[in-house]
Amino acid sequence: MIVKEENKQMFGQLLLDKKIINQKQIKEALEVQKTNGKALGNILIDLGYTTSDLIKSVLNITRKTEQKLAHLFNTSIGMMKCIDQASLFKFIMTEAKRILESDMCNLFLVDEEADEFKCVFIYNEEVREIRLPLSNGLAGYVAKTSETIKLEDAYQSPLFDPELDNNLGYKTSTVLCIPVKQQSNKVIGAIQVVNKKGKGRFTSYDEWLLKSFAIFASNAISMVSAGKIKNPKTRFAENMNMFNLAVENLAEGVIIITQDDDAVVVNPAVKWMLGWKIKKDIDKQETEELLEKSGLGKISKWLRGEVDSLTSEEITIQIPEVRVIKVEFSEINGEINYERKKGCLVVFKDITRDKKFDQVKSEFITIASHELLSPITSMKNAVNLLLQEMLGPNTDSQKKFLHIINDGVEYLSNLTTTLLDITISEIRKVPLKREKVDLDKIIKSTIESQWFKAEENKVSLINNNGSHPSVLADSNRTRQALLNLLDNAFKFTPHGGEIVVSTKSTEDEVEISVKDNGAGIFLEEQDKIFERFYQVENATTKKHYGIGLGLSICKDIIEAQGGRIWVESKGRGGSNFVFTLPLYK
Ligand code: ADP
Repeated sequence: MIVKEENKQMFGQLLLDKKIINQKQIKEALEVQKTNGKALGNILIDLGYTTSDLIKSVLNITRKTEQKLAHLFNTSIGMMKCIDQASLFKFIMTEAKRILESDMCNLFLVDEEADEFKCVFIYNEEVREIRLPLSNGLAGYVAKTSETIKLEDAYQSPLFDPELDNNLGYKTSTVLCIPVKQQSNKVIGAIQVVNKKGKGRFTSYDEWLLKSFAIFASNAISMVSAGKIKNPKTRFAENMNMFNLAVENLAEGVIIITQDDDAVVVNPAVKWMLGWKIKKDIDKQETEELLEKSGLGKISKWLRGEVDSLTSEEITIQIPEVRVIKVEFSEINGEINYERKKGCLVVFKDITRDKKFDQVKSEFITIASHELLSPITSMKNAVNLLLQEMLGPNTDSQKKFLHIINDGVEYLSNLTTTLLDITISEIRKVPLKREKVDLDKIIKSTIESQWFKAEENKVSLINNNGSHPSVLADSNRTRQALLNLLDNAFKFTPHGGEIVVSTKSTEDEVEISVKDNGAGIFLEEQDKIFERFYQVENATTKKHYGIGLGLSICKDIIEAQGGRIWVESKGRGGSNFVFTLPLYK
């Protein structure tokens, strides 16, 4: 069957093109595949020639794989239901455009008798048609050579003919054009999607998606041209079969199962990931039994209507090594005999390596920062002793250098604590200790600990806090968030400036604000600064230490306590950082 060979070749070719593997390795993998039937990608990983991350990057699998695949499946069913050419063409073009997240789709069909292309497109919601010579443009090349064309700027290609653009008053930039073939491998035309949304480019995964889409489209076009209307049950089974072949070489596991049809899609990656030792053909009952054994009995329950929804989850399988698999679901349109039956598409992603890597990374950072913290603390104490002239008076230049050391040590100490914090929050080793907390006390003591800094920075630090009922919070974490905000305010407020801490309580919460009259933050940056590693690029920020983590940590801390955090600023003239904490009731 062409689909199978096509995909195999394409996937292998992709890896070769990207120089991820060489000819010899792919040959070896194809030999192994004949003996064990595993997906090509997985064999290459087993042989140690590549990694799942590399394969993922080649296929550019996005987080929404399951949705794209479900959409592809639903569309293939929809196509089979179109009974005339006009509605079929419209459906194909609208859906290809949507699935490929592009601005437009054109269909070029070879009219052998007239030696022309029938070029079909949608203009003002209507299907239009123009005639073009068979040798014309990108589609002409694709139909003649059966090759795919992927362009980032169509106007740079000598093959591109701007005629269609002129007709439509349109400007093509990115293009993906692939041949449309019959099962016999005969090319009947080309399908082209234009201008990937969001100024993106068409990826190799898009190429796979459009090729699979074209197989369904070609099948539907032949059916409509021959005036053959198959019965819905046969159509559905045929679709399942075609889909099975389309996903056969995907690195992700894919299952499609419906309420009351016997046909199922189970690709080789599923069998490998979940350790299912089964023969090639598998029916619905067997699939349900194996899903149950793999801890996914909820799928059958959902099909029977015993649970309302399916949410993604991670499962751990031991076969014999431990594998962590992310399982995601998307509903499909299991339409049989014109009745809408329940059906779902399940995608399995092996995230064992990612998990292991995350764990090792977190452990490493935790250990490293712990190891760093103790010498840094000793240095900090020693410099403080010297600065306070406990060991005798310092000369002016000694003082100057001690201040430089002090700043550096302070920065290292903050950075190390921050790193520790991220890993701790990532691995969630330290749960929040939420209790009744006297907020006034926290604010007072935190501000007092910063008098020295205020003096050093020649900034007035004002405590404008009134008195408030207690809040429900983790006192250490809250102090840490407040300190981070004060630290930033000191960084971005010039000499002579002012930092005011004030509070306001409402029925359910207290708002704590740290207001400065320093650099300010423009509106477009106000959300971004709470993201990890984000820093506003300007002359003021360049003068300061920092890696863009303080505010993201504040956000984590405050949100974990049920509060919110935001900034108010007109861009200049200062910023007001506000966070809330729930009242203790
Ligand atoms: P860091 O201070 O380590 O760079 P943060 O996450 O604490 O990271 O802050 C992110 C960015 O937000 C800073 O780089 C700075 O551009 C901006 N910012 C934070 N606080 C203030 C403030 N009080 N005034 C002006 N800009 C600020």
